[in-house]
Amino acid sequence: MTCSFDMEHYREILEAAYAGGYRFAQFGSDPQDGDLFLRHDIDLSLEAAVTMAALEAELGVRATYLLMTESVFYNLASPEGVSAIARIRELGHAVGLHAVHPNVTLDKRFDPVVSWHNPRPEFTSDEIPGVANTYGERYFSPETYRSDSNQRWRSGCPHEELRAGAFPWLQILVHPAIWVYPGETMGQTMRAMLEADQTRRFAQLAEDDVDLD
Ligand SMILES: [Zn+2]
Ligand SMILES: [Zn+2]
Repeated sequence: MTCSFDMEHYREILEAAYAGGYRFAQFGSDPQDGDLFLRHDIDLSLEAAVTMAALEAELGVRATYLLMTESVFYNLASPEGVSAIARIRELGHAVGLHAVHPNVTLDKRFDPVVSWHNPRPEFTSDEIPGVANTYGERYFSPETYRSDSNQRWRSGCPHEELRAGAFPWLQILVHPAIWVYPGETMGQTMRAMLEADQTRRFAQLAEDDVDLD
């Protein structure tokens, strides 16, 4: 098995989690033995989020999607944003806020769960009244946390340990854009994402009757 960052290996990771006896847990209650908190911070692409959400639903997986209201890459209030949230919910996932500190305005689009965008040590683990902070002490410790940030698993791809049931419980942070768009490195993957985005932008211009001749 090669630990490539593509949807095929993502599926293998989820299957390994099932084989290891893990169950997909929701933020809000304390971690129990066998819990797997599957978290997606959506920094870049709603399209990638919806693609990943559909694959997970096919496998019976419930994840938590944390979406931004202050992203420079997408607009959650646009028709695209509204339909992305609706689709992710329809597929059975939780939706929380990927927040820019200190703004944690949770309107009715969101479940009471927050992850910080670009967290800094001064505030990362602070408790937020009435809200589950995914970086709070009860959910976040190095032994029970894995992240794919920048297309690099800092402590290794977790598939083998999941299959072996080696973690008591685990929070995994997976960024859908890294897996959905092709590329051996983060740079290549980002270029592929931007190319796909350009196609989408041209379609939007045409839809708005912009003359592209
Ligand atoms: Zn792997
Ligand atoms: Zn972020």
